[in-house]
Amino acid sequence: MFTKILIANRGEIACRVAATARRMGVRTVAVYSDADASAKHVAACDEAVHIGGSAPKDSYLQWQRILDAAKATGAQAIHPGYGFLSENEAFANACAEAGLVFIGPPASAIQAMGLKAESKRLMESAGVPLVPGYHGADQDPHMLQHEADRIGYPVLIKASAGGGGKGMRAVEKAEDFAAALASCKREAINSFGSDAVLVEKYAQRPRHIEIQVFGDTHGNCVYLFERDCSVQRRHQKVLEEAPAPGMTPELRQQMGLAAVAAARAVNYVGAGTVEFIVEQPPEGGMRFYFMEMNTRLQVEHPVTEAITGLDLVEWQLRVASGEPLPLKQEDLHIQGHAIEARICAETPDNQFLPATGRLDVYRKPACTSFERGAVRVDDGVREGDAISPFYDSMVAKLIVHGRTRAEALARMDAALAETRIVGLSTNVQFLRHVVASPSFAQANLDTALIPREAGVLFHQDKVGLNLAVAAAVAQTLLAERASEGKDPFSRRDGWRPHGLTVRRFDFEYQGEAMQASLTYLHDGALQLAFAEVSGVLAFDALSAPNGTLMDLRFLGQRQTVQTWQREEIVHIFCALGATQITELDALAHAGEAAHDVGRLTAPMPGKVVSFSVKAGDAVKKGQPLAVMEAMKMEHTIAAPADGTVAELLYAPGDQVAEGAELLKIAAATP
Ligand code: ADP
Ligand code: ADP
Ligand code: MG
Repeated sequence: MFTKILIANRGEIACRVAATARRMGVRTVAVYSDADASAKHVAACDEAVHIGGSAPKDSYLQWQRILDAAKATGAQAIHPGYGFLSENEAFANACAEAGLVFIGPPASAIQAMGLKAESKRLMESAGVPLVPGYHGADQDPHMLQHEADRIGYPVLIKASAGGGGKGMRAVEKAEDFAAALASCKREAINSFGSDAVLVEKYAQRPRHIEIQVFGDTHGNCVYLFERDCSVQRRHQKVLEEAPAPGMTPELRQQMGLAAVAAARAVNYVGAGTVEFIVEQPPEGGMRFYFMEMNTRLQVEHPVTEAITGLDLVEWQLRVASGEPLPLKQEDLHIQGHAIEARICAETPDNQFLPATGRLDVYRKPACTSFERGAVRVDDGVREGDAISPFYDSMVAKLIVHGRTRAEALARMDAALAETRIVGLSTNVQFLRHVVASPSFAQANLDTALIPREAGVLFHQDKVGLNLAVAAAVAQTLLAERASEGKDPFSRRDGWRPHGLTVRRFDFEYQGEAMQASLTYLHDGALQLAFAEVSGVLAFDALSAPNGTLMDLRFLGQRQTVQTWQREEIVHIFCALGATQITELDALAHAGEAAHDVGRLTAPMPGKVVSFSVKAGDAVKKGQPLAVMEAMKMEHTIAAPADGTVAELLYAPGDQVAEGAELLKIAAATP
């Protein structure tokens, strides 16, 4: 076994690898960029080496500096994590040349699986089932159209070098093919440096089911069962689970053996994932087809760890140091059911726009059961850390395990309810809605689950106005009480200043301004009234490390509520969900002007991809004006009002800072 390894990554995966290394008594070296100088992964390792600027190309992709750091610290091996250099065969080769072990497959296997078209040709000869399609070298547009017509619509055009859900276009009918091909090729050349594409049949009610495989240098190769990653947005995974609902032992074995055949065809060593698209035809059953192989540890590997009871990073280290696989196929078994949720800094209600900012409050769920490992949180951040625009928007992964899927589901809901983040928007509530949606709860899975359930997933507020107002008022009174009983209403001795019997609060809730009044009753109770409701408000403070925790009673509802006030916004969390309400200080807002509609600014730092308008164009409110790319996602910037484009201030390809004005619009005169 190695005595010291370097982890060429950041964030949760660097922390994950460090944890296993520590447990095994292997010393660790972190590398970090400017932005990550005090990151959690640096603290998680024994030593750390600074390797450059914040942008990945200036640090985490600078492989010579990483190799130098490994040499300088005496590390014997490099773990690449996922992303960054993990699927870079040149880096794997450079490690070998520098006398370092690359903790991953041989460079030849990375190369063989690197391009989707080539890997499909290879899989065809290994007898692995493929989606009907065209993956040849001829890229003549007419020929590709002809192939698409032959395959039959709908089809999917994919960039051969693509990944991360990018470079894909679904085409519904022949007339749309040429335009989709052109746009796919444009994105492919920009993002991956190659415009080679393949065409596939678009599967019916597709599910994404992948098989975890593991090989060693002694000729062994096993499969560690499947993960269902069908719940996706923009072809990116949102929730993952193992085992796949509805999987039969026969199909599991067939898919497992096909995955092992795929791995053996490229002499695979280490952890890898063979992704299949599974078709669910109307007549029933499931048909699986090879999609691609990811030659690395996958983000969602913890669900496999949960159902097998194994540590896959430990297996990676053992295999890389030359040991045989710890277990044989017949020794591997599935126990219970596991689900992973990816908690991301983003705004699901606004097309999943990524968010950046500081994790002002970051409370993780406690282990909710006596069963060890029932709730696991993998993250690379601590309270107070920032989610920066340089890397992707994942904050943490929440993994739950239960004896049955129903138990895992209930645990996931509870764990999400206990996850409390203030400071930036996240998808935590959205994930709860997905978990509770009829399709997910009944395991009616396919990749269209999110659009199908949109009605119960977006713009939901399970807390509701009544509790929000009650919590905000209670929080204000509790805060005042804490700062030396300034609140006259909370005094139990019946004293109150002359004339002060009713107190007014101004709120803004979901864009609507409203007023609430609180009346001190003779028996010491508080009467809260707003909109059409009026009721007795009661609350008791519960002890809390910070933030306010209370037992709140209003209009027949009783909830344990936790609140944090940040400036005017009161953030409210309870078992029902989370919401926020703005407590307006009337004076502070006097004279504040309405929004300046002429300015269109970048919501985050990123790259301008394209403008869909030019100077002089008349635009309608809501019309898409520009596309930006940041944090692995594309965002459309829409017109805030009717008007005319006065000027474009950037060109496609330009890097822009947060708040940079992208274009000027002259508002239409009514
Ligand atoms: P998977 O196929 O394993 O589910 P994804 O494609 O969703 O993985 O995510 C892998 C991606 O994560 C990489 O392509 C990369 O862009 C991104 N990534 C790489 N390193 C990190 C990191 N340290 N923290 C977060 N994201 C990362
Ligand atoms: P990436 O390299 O970006 O991960 P994949 O080839 O793995 O690309 O495909 C990503 C996702 O796109 C899949 O998880 C699935 O949701 C969808 N997809 C891919 N191929 C097909 C297909 N032939 N039919 C239907 N959906 C597909
Ligand atoms: Mg994939």
